[in-house]
Amino acid sequence: MTFSAVVVAAGEGLRAGPGAPKAWRLLGGRPILRWSVEALLAADADQVVVVAAPERLDGLGEALAGLDRWTGVAGGAHRAASVQAGLAALAGEAHLPVLVHDAARPFVAKAHVERLLAALGDADGAVPALPVPDTLKRGRDVVEATVSRDGLWRAQTPQAFRLGRLREAYAAWPAGEEPTDDAGVVERTGGRIALVDGDPLLMKLTYPEDFAMAEQLAGGRRIARTGFGVDAHRFGPGDAVWLAGVRIAHDHGLVGHSDADAGLHALTDALLGAIAQGDIGQHFPPSDPQWKGASSDRFLAHAVGLAQAGGGQVLSADLTLICERPKIGPHREAMRARIAEIMGLPLDRVSVKATTTEGMGFTGREEGLMAQAVVTVETPI
Ligand code: MG
Repeated sequence: MTFSAVVVAAGEGLRAGPGAPKAWRLLGGRPILRWSVEALLAADADQVVVVAAPERLDGLGEALAGLDRWTGVAGGAHRAASVQAGLAALAGEAHLPVLVHDAARPFVAKAHVERLLAALGDADGAVPALPVPDTLKRGRDVVEATVSRDGLWRAQTPQAFRLGRLREAYAAWPAGEEPTDDAGVVERTGGRIALVDGDPLLMKLTYPEDFAMAEQLAGGRRIARTGFGVDAHRFGPGDAVWLAGVRIAHDHGLVGHSDADAGLHALTDALLGAIAQGDIGQHFPPSDPQWKGASSDRFLAHAVGLAQAGGGQVLSADLTLICERPKIGPHREAMRARIAEIMGLPLDRVSVKATTTEGMGFTGREEGLMAQAVVTVETPI
């Protein structure tokens, strides 16, 4: 579903201790505000407006380098003014869903966004919320009362609204009062807010000790994804074949639009599969003359670049070549070295195996050869 987002990063976060404002501190090597913007873009946000303190606007370009579909706007003196500045900068129809998110909650993920958009439905808003596990007391120095937890929730962000409805609610908000969240603004105008399952990972980094915990979590919020690729090319006239990035003298060549390197093509498709980015034909259409005779290392390097652009890291590659001839054994180490070089992997993460089909089928009749590959990539969730 199409949606926009406002990421509020204008606060100074004084409770977090000395140093840069918390949204600008590094977490897992990336500015904290970048975590949220990346996650919202990965969840298919049409546009993300980042609200920053005026003196920090110039730094957004560096903090969000390489990302697209975002705009920076200057925040106001209070959070409510910052949210309104963000809403004013959004293009789009009044019914468009908009998510408002605190940059200090870096572990927002696509699943959270999907739950909120699904729950928004006919409601005026949807908020992720958690039950209160601790016993609640009211008092100053001594307990005056134990408060029932029944029906009490801790509201988190992002919070989802219809753009027009949220703008109207803020326009009606009394000057001089500071809302503690955006749902409260819509509630004041009689809006109905749906409660959605929250997540402890949507915690707000507030106190100095929160950052150490977040740093540990930042290392763990990645998953391994595996993709599989297959390719085959037909033998034709020629005196050499390209296979797994290595030129091998042979009594035939391989027929294909590019250099017909089935090994690198299978690896490219396996990597594209691991990051769910289509297949080699979509990225390099055989109908496009610029790929005629192209060296296939470019295809594999492009797929590696796509994985890295999404914050991914290739972990390992395993290639199996299926042919009677040429013999692979004498070239195996050169192939491993070339694949490792293209994919930016240490040699011991690259495997090249070879087999025959014992004279059966098209590889057995030496009409062509086949390659199969498995690639594993570690990506952010
Ligand atoms: Mg091919």
